[in-house]
Amino acid sequence: MYINGNWVTPASTFAVFNPANGEQIGTVADGDREAARAAIAAAAEAFPAWSRSSAYERSARLYRAHGLMLERSASLAELMTREQGKPLKAARNEVKYAADFLLWFAEEAKRVYGETIPSARSDQRFLVQKCPVGVVAAITPWNYPISMLTRKLAPALAAGCTIVLKPAEATPLCAVAVFEILHEVGFPAGVVNLVTAADPAPIGEEFCTNPLVRKITFTGSTAVGKKIAGDSAPQLKRLSMELGGHAPFIVFDDADPVHAAKGVALVKFLNTGQACISPNRIFVQRSLLPAFLETLRQRIEALRAGDGMDPANAIGPLVNQAAVEKVDRQVRDALDHGAILHAGGARLLDNGLDKGHFYAPTLLSNVSPRMRVYREETFGPVAPVIAFDDEQEVLAMANDTSYGLAAYVYTRDLSRAVRAFEGLQFGIIGINDINPTSAAAPFGGMKESGLGREGAREGLEEYLETKLGGFSI
Ligand code: NAD
Repeated sequence: MYINGNWVTPASTFAVFNPANGEQIGTVADGDREAARAAIAAAAEAFPAWSRSSAYERSARLYRAHGLMLERSASLAELMTREQGKPLKAARNEVKYAADFLLWFAEEAKRVYGETIPSARSDQRFLVQKCPVGVVAAITPWNYPISMLTRKLAPALAAGCTIVLKPAEATPLCAVAVFEILHEVGFPAGVVNLVTAADPAPIGEEFCTNPLVRKITFTGSTAVGKKIAGDSAPQLKRLSMELGGHAPFIVFDDADPVHAAKGVALVKFLNTGQACISPNRIFVQRSLLPAFLETLRQRIEALRAGDGMDPANAIGPLVNQAAVEKVDRQVRDALDHGAILHAGGARLLDNGLDKGHFYAPTLLSNVSPRMRVYREETFGPVAPVIAFDDEQEVLAMANDTSYGLAAYVYTRDLSRAVRAFEGLQFGIIGINDINPTSAAAPFGGMKESGLGREGAREGLEEYLETKLGGFSI
């Protein structure tokens, strides 16, 4: 753990395993509630000086962190592949994306502008200033174990907040590597703090109930997000929540079915489907179905699963055995209710894959609302295809979910694209685009997919309070 500018030797540790082969790759500190309390106290003590430092000083440190992260990108990517499982090429892309947040907010730190507002009284002046919210507690997931950290750390630090971060128990080594960079950059003691723990619950309780914490930023499942929102409600802490998704991917009959199927194959199986913006319901207009399914099936059959360190492998393992079982349950349930299997549909056990948590990339058609896969977030390599007949119907089906994170639309009709963009109740919409994300663009969901946005100008606002001064002169 990293508390108050020091690496803290823990009383106990827990082991970290490679999900591709089950091998132990390291141990980390097993922090308890006491450790979280100490880290929060350090962050609170560091806050007054850090919040008064100039934006230029904060920016300079973020620039330096960006430089160090890029210098280390090869070793960070390898660590990520061994700890989280994604193929090395995807891990390199993630490190670059993670560094982008450090750079973006190094720049934005200098653009926290206030405002003067004309008063109705000639002897009065209104001045609006933005100030940091205070101590931030951050909780991050395992699926993007470096970029989800910098997406919170960079704007919090740019705004002048101090921070305590608890990473996911499956990927603490990536978090330690990020904090080694922050330590080298030389943030003042207490400004950044890391608490790793095998059991997240006591740390979460401390974050929610400690009055020194003014904001909680959380990325993870909707269930845990709701618990944190509830537990922190008595103190009305500021919240940012990046939660689950159930993205529709809509292919209209004026689109090229081959191009659209290639797009689905690329985005659906990224990170083995373990992404909150992964397409979960693929709606294809009926006349395109045969060409679309055939292209997607061919693409899926060409995806090789295995250890991400081997560049021939495009599909890494799932995070753990429970994830494999969840995916398999959804597939069995769909087949029991009349889905048609075109590819995959089982665990992968041959050639040593039984030592890891592998599931075959799977293509299902004839999927209907009676199936769990239609309703539940999968977080795995399953592409469920649903036929539709008209635009109104498909927009209603796409919106028929409590989630509202990402959606994708393929069409060559501009008017239809605008109608779909305006009609879909989702925070991020890709129109003929499978990667609508960037450090410069606001990321976040509507409905039960979350609160607030990360990245972009909006990402900095999440860490700022608005203060009004009324001056009588
Ligand atoms: P999770 O909610 O189980 O875990 C996320 C984090 O919460 C981890 O750090 C975990 O240790 C912590 N946590 C778990 N129980 C806790 C508790 N009681 N108190 C405090 N912290 C607790 O989610 P997961 O399985 O790790 O991640 C998958 C989920 O995250 C999916 O639903 C996915 O859609 C979502 N996700 C969302 C985004 C986004 O930006 N919207 C990004 C990545 C992942």
